[in-house]
Amino acid sequence: MSTRVRFAPSPTGFLHVGSARTALFNWIHARAVGGAFVLRIEDTDAERSRQELIDDILRTLEWLGIDWDEGPYRQSERRDRHAEAVEQLLAADVAYHDEGAVRFRVPDEGVTGWDDVVRGPIEFENSNLEDFVIRRSDGSVTFLLANAVDDIDMGITTAIRGEDLINTVPKVLLLMRALGAPGDLTYAHLPLLVDHQRKKLSKRRHEVAVEDYRAKGFVAEAVANYLGTLGWGPPDGVEVRPMSEIVERFRLEDVTKASAAFDLKKLTHFNADWIRMLPTDEFIARCEPWLAEAPWPAEHFDAARFATIAPLVQERVRTLAEVPNWVDWLFLADAPHDESSWEKAMVKGPDAGDILDDAHAAFADCTWDAETLGGVITDIGTKRELKTKFAQAPVRVACLGRSVGPPLFESLELLGREETLRRIEAARQRL
Ligand code: GLU
Repeated sequence: MSTRVRFAPSPTGFLHVGSARTALFNWIHARAVGGAFVLRIEDTDAERSRQELIDDILRTLEWLGIDWDEGPYRQSERRDRHAEAVEQLLAADVAYHDEGAVRFRVPDEGVTGWDDVVRGPIEFENSNLEDFVIRRSDGSVTFLLANAVDDIDMGITTAIRGEDLINTVPKVLLLMRALGAPGDLTYAHLPLLVDHQRKKLSKRRHEVAVEDYRAKGFVAEAVANYLGTLGWGPPDGVEVRPMSEIVERFRLEDVTKASAAFDLKKLTHFNADWIRMLPTDEFIARCEPWLAEAPWPAEHFDAARFATIAPLVQERVRTLAEVPNWVDWLFLADAPHDESSWEKAMVKGPDAGDILDDAHAAFADCTWDAETLGGVITDIGTKRELKTKFAQAPVRVACLGRSVGPPLFESLELLGREETLRRIEAARQRL
């Protein structure tokens, strides 16, 4: 029988990184074994069936590069089928009416268990399971019933999901068997995501929506790649790599039981790597929305000048959100003012005024290319017995505004002699 996996989110208004990881592992497994990936929205709660909540999920999956072969099915559209299944269970006398609700009759003896791909054999004593509700007194069916019926009807073979759902499995298994499922599903329960202090990721303490990371300038490739390493690692240890290579190496049996730490620093490294790996054209295209909201007057933006500096920026930024601050000096009328950079370079740094004067004098008639400009600053440093970085700092802050940014001399070459001199004078006066 060919593998059919499903991702079955209950819409909550955003896609939690843990959920996204579940979606991704299902998708990777389906692709790895040549199976089908089915998307099913578990929206039996009226509250959860609002279209915009569902659209949030679809949009985020698409952004991550997760495509589905079937669906999205909506559980809320299958009410008749669920009602029918309840009747079937009542007719077989494995379910009964109880104060308006319908409950499933759990056997008093024996155990219900399965061999979890990640966690190994798990068993529950039936005597510890209560007769659980499958249809509430208001006529709505519960998650357990809908989940079991849909997995049967959709021919699902494999469920990869968060370990918080382990307790639901015995009940769903009992239901599926009673409904005449052709066999048990293969279950794989993924380890929880925790933070660096091993605390569960929570909405209150952490940024948990995939969208939050997108909004902070993370690229989809990096987020998907990083999520793919949470609980699984490739045998050769190379973690940053295209999804196709992860699919080639992934084996569900290799997923670890230990909780996986969601580490923002590591994600940021992945992001910087992925930004560097983009073709420069693509990097430029991805910067567009960020540049559109940047602090300079729109008419001052010059795409050709940005394209010239882009490769230098691409090499060094960690997120797309950093890009505007790396290039604003090129499109603002004056160098931006950053108080802490100014303090550091101009006030606390050695000889700032003298360095600016020397640079101004030498820049006035030297050849205008990065190499010459670099030589000029090195000479100023040598003359004043300062490390080159101290000689650079006042010039950088005078012209580019910040201590952190693209390489100074290439930047000055692009800024041009006239504007460089003007900015050095302005800084000199301010000092
Ligand atoms: N709808 C469930 C949830 O979002 C997941 C169900 C499943 O994977 O079986 O928690």
